[in-house]
Amino acid sequence: MKQKQKETILSEDRETKGCGTPTAGTDAGNGGATQPSMTEQEKRALALEVVRRLKEEYPDAGCTLDYDDAWKLLVSVRLAAQCTDARVNVVVEKLYEKFPDVDALAAAQPEEIEEIVKPCGLGRSKARDISGCMRMLKEQYGGRVPDDFDALLKLPGVGRKSANLIMGDVFGKPAIVTDTHCIRLTNRMGLVDGVKEPKKVEMALWKLIPPEEGSDFCHRLVYHGREVCTARTHPHCERCCLADICAKAGVEATAG
Ligand code: SF4
Repeated sequence: MKQKQKETILSEDRETKGCGTPTAGTDAGNGGATQPSMTEQEKRALALEVVRRLKEEYPDAGCTLDYDDAWKLLVSVRLAAQCTDARVNVVVEKLYEKFPDVDALAAAQPEEIEEIVKPCGLGRSKARDISGCMRMLKEQYGGRVPDDFDALLKLPGVGRKSANLIMGDVFGKPAIVTDTHCIRLTNRMGLVDGVKEPKKVEMALWKLIPPEEGSDFCHRLVYHGREVCTARTHPHCERCCLADICAKAGVEATAG
């Protein structure tokens, strides 16, 4: 029955294109043989089904960084590089006790910020970026976070991943957040083919994921990546809601 679901999802495109070639992606999970990757139409169909199932599985998935103001999410997302969200959520409480608003953080010396944020790792560079970012917010945006992707990218320490997160979570705009879970899972599923560079994955997903679903979809990938499609061990394909439609690219045949 499950195999039939997968065939149904993929078959429309084959019929449309008059192509009888099996299209399960580069599927090391099915014996290690490299098979032709899916067509863009097939990937779009697969993406819609993945979005639908993950929505059912994680209906309330949201950002796992705590924040109650846009500038705080900017701070947290910078601290989250190579650090767990749980630790960031603890550290920022201490940071905001001492520096409760943009003005206070902008006025702080980077060394004062570093002293508090160093448990997150990379303390010096993170403190320098947070300081520069808050100063720019104060001087150029009146202490507010701009709701413009390119403006966000100009803030110190803010890359495409962070800018997308802000656009999606704070401003409710279309966003694709390509973190490590997103990159790993979309490769395994066959939505992208051996693409590891975050910007390339982002651009590929823009073509596949409905814009209004992008932000929540990426949050759900984080949940799924932590709970089921894990990085360090074999993923738990045997209890995955996507097992019958996933290409399992790069997954050992013994997994699941
Ligand atoms: S756990 Fe297995 S079936 Fe599920 S998304 Fe990951 S590789 Fe695919």
